[in-house]
Amino acid sequence: MVYPILIKIYMKETIYMNAITNCNLCPRRCGIDRTTNIGYCGTTDKVLLAKVMLHRWEEPCISVTNGAGTVFFSGCNLHCCYCQNNAISNEIYGKSVTIEQLANIFLSLQEQGADNIELITPTHYVTQIIKALDIAKPHLHIPIVYNTGGYELSETIKLLNDYIDVYIPDLKYFSQEASLRYSHAADYFKYASESILQMISQAGKLVYNTNGGLIKGTIIRHLVLPGLRHDSLKILDWIAENTSSDEVLVSIMSQYVPFDFIPDEFFEIKRHVTKMEYNSVVKHSAELKLNGFTQQKSSASEDFVPEFDLSGII
Ligand code: SF4
Repeated sequence: MVYPILIKIYMKETIYMNAITNCNLCPRRCGIDRTTNIGYCGTTDKVLLAKVMLHRWEEPCISVTNGAGTVFFSGCNLHCCYCQNNAISNEIYGKSVTIEQLANIFLSLQEQGADNIELITPTHYVTQIIKALDIAKPHLHIPIVYNTGGYELSETIKLLNDYIDVYIPDLKYFSQEASLRYSHAADYFKYASESILQMISQAGKLVYNTNGGLIKGTIIRHLVLPGLRHDSLKILDWIAENTSSDEVLVSIMSQYVPFDFIPDEFFEIKRHVTKMEYNSVVKHSAELKLNGFTQQKSSASEDFVPEFDLSGII
């Protein structure tokens, strides 16, 4: 019986090393050695964090009572031109931590009363996160939440089976033109939709604890963008046709902010989303009988962007 365990450990280590020395973890498929090179995501094999905190402004079933134990990872494989977390996603601000330190951060969040461990933009560190969870998970009794921009490979999501309890993927665009223009990813919808179906198959039906916290399931987030109302409606149609309300919640977000750093060439999104645009998306969601969350218009404010100051990193 020792042999199967050793083979499993060997295979895991091999997958880990391959992902580091020939990184194809996400649809960018850079194929680089991250011990010596920087990928499209802006990172090497060093895990960079920008902030660790108890977050009380997520969806109610994620923030629950004390707050989500959020771990903000630096770097991103999308680099959306309007990203509210620009300082860490595009400018790659962050502090390096070891795998053991990352495991300790998870345990520390639990000690502080976090209702879950929420990994934010974790895709490019999946292998390191798995190693940290191998250390921490035997001592964790709260759910692990994977919060992603959605540009994922199903193969990478499969590596997370047995590690992740709740998935929160974005589904940002239906249109190839929009995903190419704002995120340099014409194939965004193809990969995001495939990987979301994989996440749903792994997380299964929605399950809540006695505090109303989500402990199993998937929340698909969609940020309504200026001028892309019809794209939003197509995304909701796809969700209604391809997912079930006992497995998926839908969070329709209004928090888009036209930050000054958005280059002038994207002049058409240098404005707020109108009330009519947001309300028409919410109305369509109700017509499709999708369950989930909406946001108040007041969420579209820089005040709700966390200050990335390396706080909470031990
Ligand atoms: S995770 Fe980063 S280095 Fe790896 S394929 Fe994606 S963008 Fe490239």
